[in-house]
Amino acid sequence: MAASYNEMWEKLDLDLDAHNALLEVLGKFYGDIYMSQQGRLKGAEYLDFVLSEVHGLRIKELQDEKAKGKKIVGTFCVFVPEELTLAADAVHVGLCSGADAGREQAETMVPRNTCALIKSFIGFKLAKLCPFTESCDMIVGETTCDGKKKAYEAFGKVAPMYVMEVPQQKRSSDRELWRAEVWRYKEALERLTGRKITTEKLREAIRTVNAKRRVLQRLNALRAADPAPISGRDALLINQISFYDDPVRFTAKMNELCDELEARVAAGEGVAPKGAPRLLLSGCPMAVPNWKVPYVAESTGAVVVGEESCIGTRNSRDLVDESGETVNDMIEALVDRYLRIDCACFTPNDERLDNIAAEAKAAHADGVLHYSLLFCQPYTHEAFKVAKKLSDEKIPMLAVETDYSMDDVEQLKTRIGAFVETLD
Ligand code: SF4
Ligand code: SF4
Repeated sequence: MAASYNEMWEKLDLDLDAHNALLEVLGKFYGDIYMSQQGRLKGAEYLDFVLSEVHGLRIKELQDEKAKGKKIVGTFCVFVPEELTLAADAVHVGLCSGADAGREQAETMVPRNTCALIKSFIGFKLAKLCPFTESCDMIVGETTCDGKKKAYEAFGKVAPMYVMEVPQQKRSSDRELWRAEVWRYKEALERLTGRKITTEKLREAIRTVNAKRRVLQRLNALRAADPAPISGRDALLINQISFYDDPVRFTAKMNELCDELEARVAAGEGVAPKGAPRLLLSGCPMAVPNWKVPYVAESTGAVVVGEESCIGTRNSRDLVDESGETVNDMIEALVDRYLRIDCACFTPNDERLDNIAAEAKAAHADGVLHYSLLFCQPYTHEAFKVAKKLSDEKIPMLAVETDYSMDDVEQLKTRIGAFVETLD
């Protein structure tokens, strides 16, 4: 891929040597974790293609859209309403922040004891490694955790930031605040793109994003089968790709993949033997290319059957009501849907506990693997409450804290392996 896209990457002011080195490492990492799997689906060819072209063809598509006058909006959080971005005729992309790159540069801007996800998006920018970030006309942050809030202030000095205020509670006054923020985002998009968000455009965008969420729900429901028809690694990759591929193409491809999965389930076939220990992952989002924990978990003989995270069911669980007839109605529906997100940044956040227990049961999980990034206060705190809730429900749980380095892989294998053995 490298040679054919060098000119484009150069125009985006990437550090070509460092970027080529990164792609080489990523390619090998992907090969080890993904291509080594047995019995993969035919539909996984789409995943392999998208991933192999993530910095190539997809960026070329974005550049082509820009040449036609479209704007590119980058985001880091499932709180940013994609429906509005699409209704403003802009492209909405998730900025991944899942690799340990540019850490030293990032630590010149944020404290060392900042989570790996925040350091990653800053590191990628400062080390000139991310063609998505460089393609963005606007990058939308949110006041969720303190780490992100303060990091966006610093990041705003080097990137075109716009910050949405997300409330920390869910009272009626918080809903008012969030509604005002959704309207403010709509206006910011209209200013950026010069296009008006009309009833028709917003209705179509709501349907497009709902369709994407529905296919992810379909995928999740199929994973309840035993034997599990798809690996947790592939399912995580699907959720990750849902943030940066074109939503209509993604939905069509994933419906094809789900057809294949349905046939597999009907034939009683799977990626692990029937009765293999089943794990639900729960906690911090795992952005591309953060595949470490599911890879380690599945190398112990377990199979991951769900992800209770933003790159998982927190993003796909709720749909937007499609019955609104005016822009105002539809914005009310967006406000309601997005305020149902059970991010650990909320207080209290008891609905997340109920959701985890319900998801573990629906997926027929034998245990929950709670995952927090080191220095992530919200999720590390909630791990205690999740453990209590799951203990009450008689669902075993193991909490792990880690980052993006591979230094603790052996230690994780030992801990997760021992946990999985207790599930047999
Ligand atoms: S965990 Fe919270 S802050 Fe992070 S992406 Fe999800 S909703 Fe946003
Ligand atoms: S992982 Fe935790 S600390 Fe890091 S950005 Fe998300 S909520 Fe904040």
